[in-house]
Amino acid sequence: MSELQLVSTPTEVPEGPAPSLVRALRGYFETGATRPLSWRLGQLDAIGHFLMEREEDIFAALAADLGKPATEAFGAEIGVTLTELRLSRKKLRSWMKPERVGTSAVAMPGRSHIYREPLGVTLIIGAWNYPLQLVLLPLVGAIAAGNCAVLKPSEVAPNVSALVAKWVPKYLDPKAVKVVEGGVPETTALLREKWDHVFYTGNGTVGRIVMQAAAKNLTPVTLELGGKSPCIVDENVDLDLAAKRIVYGKFFNAGQTCVAPDYVLVHDRVHDALVNRMVSAIREFYGDDPQQSPDYARIVNERHHARLTRLLADADVVTGGETDLSDRYIAPTILRNVSGDHSVMQEEIFGPILPVISVPSVESAIRFVNERPKPLALYVFAREKDTQDRVLAGTSAGGTTINHIWLHVGVLQLPFGGVGDSGMGAYHGHRSFETFSHRRAVLKKPLLPDPPMLFPPYSARKLRWIKRLL
Ligand code: NAD
Repeated sequence: MSELQLVSTPTEVPEGPAPSLVRALRGYFETGATRPLSWRLGQLDAIGHFLMEREEDIFAALAADLGKPATEAFGAEIGVTLTELRLSRKKLRSWMKPERVGTSAVAMPGRSHIYREPLGVTLIIGAWNYPLQLVLLPLVGAIAAGNCAVLKPSEVAPNVSALVAKWVPKYLDPKAVKVVEGGVPETTALLREKWDHVFYTGNGTVGRIVMQAAAKNLTPVTLELGGKSPCIVDENVDLDLAAKRIVYGKFFNAGQTCVAPDYVLVHDRVHDALVNRMVSAIREFYGDDPQQSPDYARIVNERHHARLTRLLADADVVTGGETDLSDRYIAPTILRNVSGDHSVMQEEIFGPILPVISVPSVESAIRFVNERPKPLALYVFAREKDTQDRVLAGTSAGGTTINHIWLHVGVLQLPFGGVGDSGMGAYHGHRSFETFSHRRAVLKKPLLPDPPMLFPPYSARKLRWIKRLL
């Protein structure tokens, strides 16, 4: 288990309110109240009202938990959720329409459609780094698809968790959406229940616990996990531009972003130039003393601060490296002379430390990436389309932005999710609606004609007929 995961195992799991909570939600779901378009639109609007009317409370909670600057809080928590729900609102009527598909000869005459039906009662477990977005964005999908949901915000961001528990029941239909606060015991108790879908965001160790619990009830899961997302920089790029974009994507939310570039693999001919430009970009963004910058977030808690500080112990620091536990501060830090077996390369960093590794070619960067688990994101800065294509074809990742950092996640037309160790399933936009829907196959047959060829007693003629049809 990696240090990042800091996983505790439950010692005592109370029976708690989970069984009656799920019973109540299932009872409500079965009334059909959550199925009409009007209910779904009303609930999406309610999420929007919550986000807009409580903006100041949300900023305050995110500042208390993560020192999150308002611009980052708006962009990556409120704004992205508003965009998601506006898209869902606009498209929902057409997404809900039965989809007409062709009908194979054996079933003719007839009409075939795919109906999207809600799954039922869903559980959404969020992580702490974008603690509001990671419960509300999946909730948009769950509601758009006509489900009930329990939200379990991360206890590691206690102010946002309390805010969600306070306001969600006031804005949304409390018979359909409930919030359970808590940590391992409470989540373990929830996972004992039978759900129709579990949507989990967090680390892979807990992802396995979630999947095991879900397997007992054959419950489908979406696992939004993390990993070490590489950033490959070729020699023929605009290094100023690459440096700025990498520094922005890495140090946003103080590096506590699942799709942040975890490490840089740079062509050895431009290694020093890129590092120098990244040092300048840090100064340009956060000033000479980033601890004084209002635009630089804090580490979520002391445990993660200690974990990150340990990673700095035997590192070759180019810039940064300062830590202040009393302020949960770690400076934007760049490391060089990092090898693949350095401790910083053994786990997802998930903080403001960026190792830079020199490679002789794009091919060796590709080999380096492929010796490790499939990442959630992979970035490539390269001028030539051929190089971009070689990286795309030679690697696998949940998603990729070429010549920038993690902007693909904000394109709601693209699925967001991992592959292999970085997760399974995807969401955002239409994919969220699909994730929380069952695709029900429906064939409508007329009463007549009723050809006797299908039915026994069989004959050589009927066999010939079937062979022609299939
Ligand atoms: P976390 O500590 O907040 O845990 C996530 C959730 O799991 C919490 O709600 C927590 O209560 C629950 N949990 C923790 N231990 C549990 C246990 N033993 N049994 C049941 N539930 C348990 O968050 P984290 O795991 O530290 O999150 C960081 C990881 O999440 C990183 O790997 C990051 O890359 C990944 N992440 C992925 C995405 C994504 O969208 N793919 C987004 C954010 C974070």
